[in-house]
Parts: sequence; structure tokens; C-alpha cells
Amino acid sequence: MNIVVCVKQTPDTAATVTVEDGRISWGDAPLVLNPWDEFAVEQALLTKEAYGGKVTALTMGPEGPNEALKMALAMGADEAVLISDPALEEADTLIASRVLAKGIEKLAPVDLVFFGRSSVDSESGVLGSQVARRLGWPTLSLVAAINTLDPEGGSIEVERMLEEGRQVVRSKLPAVVSVVKEINEPRYPSFMGIRRAARVEIPLWTLADLGLEAVGSPAVAWPEIFAPPKVETSCEFIEGDSPREIAKKLAERLIEEKVI
Ligand SMILES: Cc1cc2nc3c(=O)[nH]c(=O)nc-3n(C[C@H](O)[C@H](O)[C@H](O)COP(=O)(O)OP(=O)(O)OC[C@H]3O[C@@H](n4cnc5c(N)ncnc54)[C@H](O)[C@@H]3O)c2cc1C
Repeated sequence: MNIVVCVKQTPDTAATVTVEDGRISWGDAPLVLNPWDEFAVEQALLTKEAYGGKVTALTMGPEGPNEALKMALAMGADEAVLISDPALEEADTLIASRVLAKGIEKLAPVDLVFFGRSSVDSESGVLGSQVARRLGWPTLSLVAAINTLDPEGGSIEVERMLEEGRQVVRSKLPAVVSVVKEINEPRYPSFMGIRRAARVEIPLWTLADLGLEAVGSPAVAWPEIFAPPKVETSCEFIEGDSPREIAKKLAERLIEEKVI
């Protein structure tokens, strides 16, 4: 199977996020593979291990070393491709989906494309579906399990994770699958994998390489970004001579505050 996994480099979630002059700042947080994409990479690797083939990690991002691609390679991806172009600096998801779909077409014939559920920095959660739409392929979103996969017959059956339960969906291949964390346990990269990832030459594709002359301007703008208002909290310790007395006082306070 020819499998593509779309990954994004994001700031480490342990970083403290601040808003300065209407712009988000992650300080000097290290860049990492978007945590949700670890599950997508793992699923791509498990699929390759079960059915054979090749896994290519694909990202659209700034020129230079890319931690998302390096991590995907270290985990076991066979190849990685970086799409980068100065014209993509202000890309919104419509532009990103157009560019990634072209990248996937350049890697043809592709059977399956994996995405994470969302990116931890922009968090629109729509890119997988937009790419599928561009390719004219079905999207299977929020997938928590792949029940069956028949590369020869060109079909896949998955379980989607919904708030109310799980939904079984069958679809034709090729398809785009976005995964949730319940699907697997991402592996740690091996020492050999890390060494290999450091050596692999990652090709850089520009818009011209994808046959795109221009991508236009973003349809979506971020006119303002602001931190949520600070919530003032106070802490009250309820004391008493016995658990019964403390519980009684607590219940009375909760009733007083109209919590219960
Ligand atoms: C006006 C505007 C300006 C922007 N300017 C910038 C900017 O300068 N720099 C910047 O980094 N972002 C910028 N963005 C955000 C950028 O467009 C989004 O990060 C990108 O479109 C993907 O959306 P998302 O991160 O919300 O993806 P989601 O839909 O939340 O991500 C879902 C999944 O898609 C995949 N994915 C996400 N992003 C990529 C990617 N780039 N390559 C491959 N796979 C991916 C991952 O598997 C991820 O789990 C801008 C957005 C707007 C609207």
C-alpha cells in the first residue's frame, strides 16, 4: 500500500502561551510533531506492517529543519517531503488543503492518507476533510479503530468515535482517514530511527514543483486574538470536629451559593 501521513510541526504543548499585541507567542518553546499526529504516524506504520508498502510523511511548513518530519522518520516512515514556498506564509486551511492535495497527487498512486484529529496550535480540525474534498475521495474522520482493510478489493471499514458512541463506516479506497488517540499507542522512536532521521535528505517541493502558479490570498483572516479574561478565585477551608459536621457545613455553603 502507498500510504501518506500528513503531519504538522507545532510548539510543545508544555509551553506557556501568551498573547502579545494581538499575536500568539509560544515563547522559545521547542517545536515538536503535533501530538495528535503521533497517532496518525503510528497508524500509518501499523498499516504498512500489516499490508506492506511504503509510508511517506508530508508537511507544508517553513523552509529549514522540520521536527514533524524528523520524528515521523525516526518512528519509521520510509520517506518525508516538505512543501515550502514564500507564497504560503499566510496560508489558511483552504490554501493548505489545495497544496497538500497537489502533494498527494504527486505521490500517486496513493491508497490511504492519514491525518491527526487537529493541530494543537491552530486547531481548526478541518484540513483532512478539505484535502479529501480536493482529491474527490471519501473522508473518514475521528477514527478510533480500523476494523477491516482490503487493499485488493479497495475497501476499508472503520469505527468513528462520536460523543454518543461509535459508528461503523465502510468506504472505498483511496480514502482520507483522520484518527483520534483511542486508535493506538504511538511507539517511541528507536535509537537507529533517530540516527537515520538525522541523515535522510528531505526533498523540498515548491509551488512550481506542484504545478501551482499561485495560491491566492487567504479567505479567512484572524483579525484579533486575545487571552480569555482572568478568573478570580478564592479558596475557603471548611473545618469542623467531625466529617459529619464538615459535610453539613459544606452542603449548607453549596446551597447558599446556589450550586446545589
Ligand atoms: C489568515 C491566516 C494566516 C495564517 N498564517 C499562518 C502562518 O503564517 N504560519 C502557520 O504556521 N500557520 C498559519 N496559519 C494557520 C495555517 O493556515 C493552518 O495551520 C493550516 O491551514 C492547517 O490548519 P490547522 O492547523 O488548523 O489544521 P487542523 O485541521 O487542525 O489539522 C488537522 C490535521 O491536518 C494535518 N496538518 C495540519 N497542518 C498541516 C500542515 N501544514 N502540513 C501537513 N499536514 C498538516 C495534521 O495531520 C493535523 O493533525 C494561518 C491561518 C490563517 C487563517
